[in-house]
This record gives sequence, structure tokens and C-alpha cells, in this order.
Amino acid sequence: MISRIIDEKEIAKLRKLLDNSDRIVITCHLTPDGDAIGSSLGLAHVLGAIGKRVTVLTPDAVPKHLRFLPGVRDSMAFSAYEEYGAKLLRDADLIFCLDFNEPKRVDRMENALVASQAPKVLIDHHLNPGKFTEVTISHPEVSSTSMLVFRVICRLELFDKIDRAAAECIFCGMMTDTGNFSYNSNDPDLYTVIAELLRKGIDKDAIYARAMNTKTLSAMRLNGYALGEKMELFPEHQCSIISLTADELKRFEYEKGDTEGLVNQPLALPSVQWSVYLREDPEQIKVSMRSKGSFPVNRVCSELFGGGGHLNAAGGEFKGSMQECIARLKDAMPSYDSFLPSEPLKK
Ligand code: 5GP
Ligand code: MN
Repeated sequence: MISRIIDEKEIAKLRKLLDNSDRIVITCHLTPDGDAIGSSLGLAHVLGAIGKRVTVLTPDAVPKHLRFLPGVRDSMAFSAYEEYGAKLLRDADLIFCLDFNEPKRVDRMENALVASQAPKVLIDHHLNPGKFTEVTISHPEVSSTSMLVFRVICRLELFDKIDRAAAECIFCGMMTDTGNFSYNSNDPDLYTVIAELLRKGIDKDAIYARAMNTKTLSAMRLNGYALGEKMELFPEHQCSIISLTADELKRFEYEKGDTEGLVNQPLALPSVQWSVYLREDPEQIKVSMRSKGSFPVNRVCSELFGGGGHLNAAGGEFKGSMQECIARLKDAMPSYDSFLPSEPLKK
């Protein structure tokens, strides 16, 4: 079977908390992605199967392309029912915090989450976990929280309780956080787990199609426009920037999620080591970065945009105009040249 990586002390604490709990809330980060919602629902199915009353409470709505996952209909968005969501957190006797490392990542739900007296369990793979939970299962070297949830379930000896629905959710998270197993995906255990999930009856090709082949025509045109007209290359810094203003987004009837994956596209150019996508939201500019190899975009996001994330996938925010944001990036670019690979790259 798979290797053992989670500290037995944390598992023992978790076992005890679970024995003494009945009303469980599982929550994840704002704008849940496939891993956030997949890990949450996967765990919810298994805890439901052992008789717990479980609610998945997301800070805001699950994006359309992930609503096919079994259990989404029983989940609740805090943004839609703030009072009821706060009551659920208050009345819970155990809260799971999945796929985020700091309470601020749940946005407007932060106060209600922090104020709840319920013991909290963090299961996450982002760097620098905050100290706000009784149990901390934090493994930044693991490619997805869903993979971690699978490991936790096995350590709790609940593997048999993983049904097809749980397996679908867990697989979806493993798949989306590795770009369909194209990055952070060299861990042999990943493929052992996929084999186990296939034996639980998942149709992995169908999950891929349902999660990925879901673009609208206007979103496709927006992505085409972004790559065709708005991608700027900085060859000496092996960087690319795509920026989309509020006007441009409006022109293409932008909806949340329409530019998902766009920031990865410039990395298909051998000459691009790090890619930046800037989106003008109503109150700030949302910064998204991706990189190859050891180029640390989490460091860039933290130093320039008060954000963070993983070595190869990070984000942050900028308060100011798009021009100012791009100027900040351009000014700082040379200071990150030392992280570029020394071998010259093919164009
Ligand atoms: P995305 O580019 O998909 O929005 O985010 C990629 C990763 O960057 C996320 O998984 C998260 O770890 C991190 N991230 C994105 N936005 C922020 C942010 O505003 N602050 C911090 N600390 N991390 C972020
Ligand atoms: Mn994740």
C-alpha cells in the first residue's frame, strides 16, 4: 500500500475528536477549486457513512463546472446563508478546515469560524499553516488536499467506507491540483491511490470531461483574446504577463471561473519560466502566477502582492490601477533573474 507520512500523534488526536463528535462542519477556502470541494465532499461522504451528521459549508458558491460532484447539492454556501452558516459553525462539535492554511482564506466566514468553540482539524498542503487548529495535518509536499484526505481516511481505518461517490470527489481533487497529473505528480503513491479509486468504480475519463470540458463560447473567446492580444512577453526575464481589465472582462460576459487555467498557458512556451495573470476585479486586481522548476512564484507574490501559495502556483492582490500593478511587476522582474535556470532555453 501507500507510504505512511502523517504523524501518528495527529491521527490519535483526530481519532479521539471524532469519537466525541456528532455534528461536523467541513469547510474549505473561498472560491472552492476541484481540490477544495473534492476533498471536503470526499471526507463528508466517509464521515456520513459512519453515522456523523456532516455539513459541507463553503465560503461562497461552488463553481458551475464542479457542481456535478456527488454531494454538492447538500453543501451550503456561507455567502448565501450567513446567519445559518454562522449557527452551524457555532453548534458544531468538530470543524474540518480543508485546503487552506489561514482563517483569512475563508473571507467573510473568518469571524464565525474563529469564534466557534468547536475543536478544529486542519488538513492542507499549503506552506506555513497558521496555529488555529487543535489537529494540524499539513503536508506541503503532497500535491493535493484530496490525496491527504485519502491518507487520513486510510489511517482512520475507514478505507472500506469510501464508496464510489467519495472516490469521485477525491479523484477530482487529485486531478485538478496536478493539472490532470502533469505537475507535482511524480509521487508513485498517487497512482496507487488512483488504482484504488478506480476499483471503487470511478470513471476517471468522465470526471475529466465533466470538470474540464465545460467552457462557454464567450469564455473560450475571452481566453483566445487574452492569449492573442493581451499576452506580453519579457524574454530577458523569461516572464509573461496577461492582463484583463474590467471593461475587457465585461465585453466577453466574464463569469467567475471563465479564465481558470489561462495563467498556465504561457508556460507551454519553452522560453517562459513564470507566467502572471492579472484580472481587474471590482475592488482590487487579482494576481495569479505559475512557474516551472524551482522558480518561486510564492516568493514573488508574497514580496510584491501580500500573497503566497506554492512554489509553482501562487497568488495575491493589488490595490491600485492595472498600469501601476504592471509597473510594480516590471520594476521587480530583474531581481528574480537569479532564480531562472542557467541553461539557455530554446525559443
Ligand atoms: P490561483 O492562481 O489559482 O488563484 O491560486 C493559486 C494558489 O495560490 C492557491 O492555491 C493559493 O495557495 C495561492 N493564493 C492565491 N491567491 C492568494 C492570496 O491572495 N493570498 C495567498 N496567501 N495565497 C493565494
Ligand atoms: Mn489544493
